[in-house]
Amino acid sequence: VKLANVADRLHLTDGTRSLDVHTASDGRFGPDPQSVYAVWSSFTAWAHGVSIEDGQPFHDLGPPVPRPQQVFAIGLNYTEHAAEAGYPPETMPVTFTKFPTCLTGPHATVDLPSQHVDWEVELVVVISHHAWQVPEDKGWDHIAGVTIGQDLSERDLQLSGTKPQFSLGKSFPGFGPTGPFLVTPDELANRDDLEITATLTGETVQASRTSRMIYPVPTLVARLSSICPLLPGDLIFTGTPAGVGNARTPKRFLTPEDTLVSAIEGLGEMTTRFRRST
Ligand code: ZN
Repeated sequence: VKLANVADRLHLTDGTRSLDVHTASDGRFGPDPQSVYAVWSSFTAWAHGVSIEDGQPFHDLGPPVPRPQQVFAIGLNYTEHAAEAGYPPETMPVTFTKFPTCLTGPHATVDLPSQHVDWEVELVVVISHHAWQVPEDKGWDHIAGVTIGQDLSERDLQLSGTKPQFSLGKSFPGFGPTGPFLVTPDELANRDDLEITATLTGETVQASRTSRMIYPVPTLVARLSSICPLLPGDLIFTGTPAGVGNARTPKRFLTPEDTLVSAIEGLGEMTTRFRRST
């Protein structure tokens, strides 16, 4: 099953056509794209039997999960990126939040509040069933699906002085592009091993595989849910591979001339553009 947010209504899609869920289900599900995770089992049972054949071409895609109650984000989850950032691995993954007002869709133009905004392509997972103290081998059972995310980061604020501000530095408006679709894990050939890339104005700047995560998805669900309940429709940004601009020599940051394409195998791609806000 693939889900899209079309003009803030939940749609089923095959990637080229889509069907309004509220209409197709005679009002049983939707129209709010955020509402479906609380009734995930009955929704997927219904959705698997629906044909998209009568769907229409779509436009105006928003974030597939627009209003999560919690957004977890993981730092330093790929060995090469942890090394380029200069941190040793720990037993608990580095965790911060991206405040949900930063979320935007897969074709956004994002305001740059400074000259030091960086890119971080990430696999984003969406929680289905309430997750509390979940063992690792049950981690995927609590995942509704996956999508592509960009953890855009204003490095001056994020890394300022001796008291870094990870959550604020990564939460300016538009700093959480996600999409284009929410894809259920059964659609993927191998949910634990997906190619992940970021291409900046034609140059591949990040390229890895999600199998190279230090804390794989089920481990993240286990470690996070050992402390906080994870709620239906919550997001986890699972960390970025090596190749961010702040770790380059010379450093490179996003400009209004750049086009950032974020892609993950089986999930499609997302194109983000930029403009100066000052
Ligand atoms: Zn990140």
